[in-house]
Amino acid sequence: MNDVVSLPSRNPRTGQTDYQMPVFSTDEVAAVARRLRAAQPIWRAQSVDRRLELLSQFAQAIATESEPLTEALTKDTGRRFESVLEVQGVQNTIRRWLNDAPGLLMGDAPRRAATPNVIIEQHKRPYALAGIISPWNFPLILSLIDAIPALAVGCAVLIKPSEATPRFVPVLQRAIDRVPGLADVLAFVTGAGPTGEAVIRNSDVVCFTGSVRTGRRVGQLAAEVFVPVHLELGGKDPAIVCADADIAHAARALTWGSMVNAGQTCMSIERCYVDRKIYQPFVAALSAEVDALRHSYPDITCGQIGPIIAEVQIPVVKRHLEDAYAKGARAVTGGKVLELGGGSWCEPTVLVDVNHDMAILNEETFAAILPVMPFDDEDEAVRLANSTDFGLSACIFSRDIDRAKGIAARLEAGAISINDAALTSMVHDAAKQSFKYSGLGGSRMGTPSLQRFYRQQAFLINDGSASPWWFASAVAPMAGS
Ligand code: NAD
Repeated sequence: MNDVVSLPSRNPRTGQTDYQMPVFSTDEVAAVARRLRAAQPIWRAQSVDRRLELLSQFAQAIATESEPLTEALTKDTGRRFESVLEVQGVQNTIRRWLNDAPGLLMGDAPRRAATPNVIIEQHKRPYALAGIISPWNFPLILSLIDAIPALAVGCAVLIKPSEATPRFVPVLQRAIDRVPGLADVLAFVTGAGPTGEAVIRNSDVVCFTGSVRTGRRVGQLAAEVFVPVHLELGGKDPAIVCADADIAHAARALTWGSMVNAGQTCMSIERCYVDRKIYQPFVAALSAEVDALRHSYPDITCGQIGPIIAEVQIPVVKRHLEDAYAKGARAVTGGKVLELGGGSWCEPTVLVDVNHDMAILNEETFAAILPVMPFDDEDEAVRLANSTDFGLSACIFSRDIDRAKGIAARLEAGAISINDAALTSMVHDAAKQSFKYSGLGGSRMGTPSLQRFYRQQAFLINDGSASPWWFASAVAPMAGS
């Protein structure tokens, strides 16, 4: 039983508690789930076109609420630029599904089975209730990225966002309420781990985005409840910069790929391996790019680097830096976590003289820090890039695309950007699955995304001429006949 009624939320810019988040008890989550389940058959019975029309209205309602929504997300996360991107990005996600879903959800024409006298009809049966549990680094996008395809398929959706960033929820609720009937099949419940566990216990399919540690627990619980689970977990994405790379271009792309959202993205580049032949000029170009970045403090509309969003992450970042320095690492730019106005801000940092004994090369840091290490040949680059428990994504820079593709084929990661970094943050129409501890289950991206939310059901229709059983017994008489 979970009897906490509210939890305080810390503002990442001030370090102060300035919001109380309602906590849904396990009974309250069960009641919301029952309400959604009761409405789902009506939602499912509507045509795909009608469901998509309502999702189109949802995109419009989000546009109408875009200013207060951006404001709330900015309070949640302490950064403004990425909050604007999130509000635009979620509307783009909805529009992409409006475009793609009709063709993908169209019923298949009946066909003849290979077995005589049988016609096959394939049907897509949505799960009644999809449970979604999301993290704090992109609170809006990551709470809706799986909800939109699930709703398009015909599921009802129950979302538990991160307890670190709950302020956007009441504003988004206003957008949901503007769309007729949408609130009947789409609901948010706020709270921490126990509320998340209640979501799993009441769902028919679970999509979880978060850390490996919690992902394991979620996977175990889903197995106990006996529902499928799709896990999108952490990363320690490597970059490989070959000797023939365009150094200036690679330095710019990797600055973006490692520093956007102050490094707090799952597909952030957290390790950079550079051919020794260009190591010095590359480090100089990268440091110059990173050195030009500024904290968006005190003016939130200036600069590029926001605060560390989640309080729990602050000691992790500090520990990784201290451990790296104790083992010989050196910052060529940045290098510290600063306390500004009550918040904690990681300086945009490039580290050299690093090695794989350091936590910063092995564990997810989730901060604006890029450690850079030289390699001597392609085999060593691949070995270093693969020497991790994670396998989310990676990137390779080389003017020789065939060479880059050859390296990509040897990397153990779900998406490889070539001559760019972290492209999965923008390119959502390429299917990919995680390797190693970075996740489990179907692809969130690309058209297979929809398949996570329905089961294939087959109608096998005897066409009335004769049963295949009679045909089979005619060619192979049963024993004793
Ligand atoms: P987290 O695992 O701490 O929490 C994620 C969510 O799980 C939160 O909503 C939390 O309340 C909930 N939760 C906690 N305990 C639970 C339990 N026992 N049962 C059910 N739910 C529970 O992760 P976080 O710190 O919020 O997010 C950061 C992590 O998310 C990083 O590791 C990052 O790489 C990862 N991430 C992955 C992706 C991806 O697509 N692969 C995207 C964004 C973030």
